[in-house]
Amino acid sequence: MLGNGPHEGGCACGKVRYVLRETGGMQPYACHCRDCQSRSGSAAMVNLHISLDQLEIVGELIDADVAKPDGSSVTQHACPACLTRICSSSKTRPGTGILRAGILDASDELQPAVHLWTSRKQPWLTIADDAVTFETQPDDPLEWIRLLRPAAGS
Ligand SMILES: [Zn+2]
Ligand SMILES: [Zn+2]
Repeated sequence: MLGNGPHEGGCACGKVRYVLRETGGMQPYACHCRDCQSRSGSAAMVNLHISLDQLEIVGELIDADVAKPDGSSVTQHACPACLTRICSSSKTRPGTGILRAGILDASDELQPAVHLWTSRKQPWLTIADDAVTFETQPDDPLEWIRLLRPAAGS
């Protein structure tokens, strides 16, 4: 499990660094949806829901508003020099963001609490038998919390 923090991380070139003071018990998750595959250019994205007031950024970011298939938009925040994405935020969920957890310095501590969108998973990727998986993603916000903050209890 990912500890409460603080956690440090940064972009590939080092111009942007950050400290995530507290996770609030949130755990990272892997998303295998097509959108995350396209945006990361990879098989899956490892994300962490955060409270933006816990994230301290050192360095400048560039922002890009990206339309989502459901009509909402999300703002991506990236290093202007190397274009590593640091996090995203959304007007529909003010105060919260999604950190690209793979850019934590201690990224070897990341163990996704759940794998979402396994129906879109790349066929060559094998997920451990005991991992929590979801064919798509939960509709119910309470289900998200139960999956992503398992230590909070039921
Ligand atoms: Zn950079
Ligand atoms: Zn996704």
